[in-house]
Amino acid sequence: MIHPATTVRPVSPEIGNGVFATEFIPCGTIIVVRDCCDLALERDDFFALPAALRCSLETFMYHDKHGQLVLGWDHAKYMNHSCHSNTMMTDYGVEIVVRDIAAGEEVTSEYGLLNVQEPYELYCNCVNCRGALRLDDIDRFAAQWDSQILTALQRVAACPQPLVDLLVPELYREILQLQHSPQHYRSVRGLKWRAS
Ligand SMILES: [Zn+2]
Repeated sequence: MIHPATTVRPVSPEIGNGVFATEFIPCGTIIVVRDCCDLALERDDFFALPAALRCSLETFMYHDKHGQLVLGWDHAKYMNHSCHSNTMMTDYGVEIVVRDIAAGEEVTSEYGLLNVQEPYELYCNCVNCRGALRLDDIDRFAAQWDSQILTALQRVAACPQPLVDLLVPELYREILQLQHSPQHYRSVRGLKWRAS
């Protein structure tokens, strides 16, 4: 489920829809929690779907660390990629705001953390745009992303958290302990689905 201070609106004819903040959302806010209503399919079940359904769905799905295809039930699935994203997926079952998001600003995600299985051309035109997603993005950028995410997770206790009731309690405890025990941080390397 996505943070309530967000909405969907068109970005451009090329990109389609995107998610936008309806109020200021500070760094350290949990912006999306994977919850029990999200759809998660094994790959065999996904590929057994009729082609028309599969084609419509796959744009909005990502692979989790176990190789399941996940489809968020709400508008979280409309978040676009940016190479300079203001949110990032973590290995705590949540996406976190890594830079303050102004009211009206687009809420963007780093697709390099979502186990894209084929090189994927990017149209974000952001500063220092990577131009394409690659399968080994997590390996290449883990250190940089971990640094941003850990800093944001250490601010969780200081920010309003409207999604807190959706968190797995043990994982929330782990997040709160990062303020004092950053050495226990779970790297985004743990998000990589290592397909056999
Ligand atoms: Zn880019």
